[in-house]
Amino acid sequence: MFFLKENCIHNCIIIGSGPSGYSAAIYAARYGLNPILFSGPNPGGQLTYTNDIENYLGFPESIDGISFMDNCKKQALRFNTKILNKTINKVILSNDIGGTHRVFFGKSQDYLDSIGIIIATGSSSSFLGIKKEKELVGLGISFCATCDGFFHKEKDVAVVGGGDSALEETLYLSKICKKVYLLVRKNYLKASKILQKKVFEKKNVEINFSSIVTEIIGNDFLEGIKIFEKKNKTIRTVLLSGLFVAIGHIPNTDIFKNQINLDNKGYIIVKKGSTITNKPGVFAAGDVMDINYRQAITSASTGCMAAIDLDKYLSSL
Ligand code: NDP
Repeated sequence: MFFLKENCIHNCIIIGSGPSGYSAAIYAARYGLNPILFSGPNPGGQLTYTNDIENYLGFPESIDGISFMDNCKKQALRFNTKILNKTINKVILSNDIGGTHRVFFGKSQDYLDSIGIIIATGSSSSFLGIKKEKELVGLGISFCATCDGFFHKEKDVAVVGGGDSALEETLYLSKICKKVYLLVRKNYLKASKILQKKVFEKKNVEINFSSIVTEIIGNDFLEGIKIFEKKNKTIRTVLLSGLFVAIGHIPNTDIFKNQINLDNKGYIIVKKGSTITNKPGVFAAGDVMDINYRQAITSASTGCMAAIDLDKYLSSL
């Protein structure tokens, strides 16, 4: 049991419990920083939606997302990370070198103070917002082709979106699946020209412009979708084993607005090649600062970097 000490200033508070948060915790603990990790509203993060992780180095037989995150938690506990199943709902970040940051949690606005903060709150996939979508995540509906594409080998799937992510997902799936329907709500693609060219060259990709998914078919698992075609105002049914939603991500940075520098998409800005933010002692790791890679392994890597950056910072005070 962990008891919060009153008037105690901690060295390391980690906000978030995905691969970056736990990786930061393991490294910080081994540096003797006594990390306290707040697991947040969705303990384990986005990976807990993934059935099988087949591309994380060191797991030749693959592992399901929940077990993987459970292992991360156990490993962090082994090095005496204090894990609080609570959500930070407000932060006050100091501008001073060696200054104390305050994080608030719970309804009664409990708080903890720390000189070091590692933000690892991740990002959330945007949902289409239609019925059955959330229930069938992991049962045919996915947000990650590299994680789940293999389960649809030689089958028909659809990808929703017209940006770089959607086209990358499409290209990946086109190598595995029989047919890929790319469903774009506008009559043009937003993605980079180079990706567009590659997708246009794929013989098993059918691009449907001005197309909107209106309904998900299937109760226990995805069986198909209904698509509204704006041009001729018709609805058609397509049977599928997989639906990949790639309509963007939202970094989980609401509580950091006006506290830390964010880019115009809401991602935390870090100094190139590091996890250093504009606030002394505050570091950011994982999807909350990474718009490009967004993989479990890159997320874990930046968690490690954040702990190293924090240790260096504390040693310099
Ligand atoms: P984007 O925001 O760039 O694109 C989202 C796409 O989804 C748009 O086509 C958008 O349509 C569509 N969309 C949004 N909401 C809906 C909806 N409700 N129904 C149907 N379609 C919808 O997100 P990405 O994840 O593609 O990219 C994010 C950033 O990451 C970009 O800056 C991108 O360049 C970058 N990235 C780079 C990669 C690379 O360089 N290899 C790979 C992946 C991402 P509309 O245009 O109508 O708004």
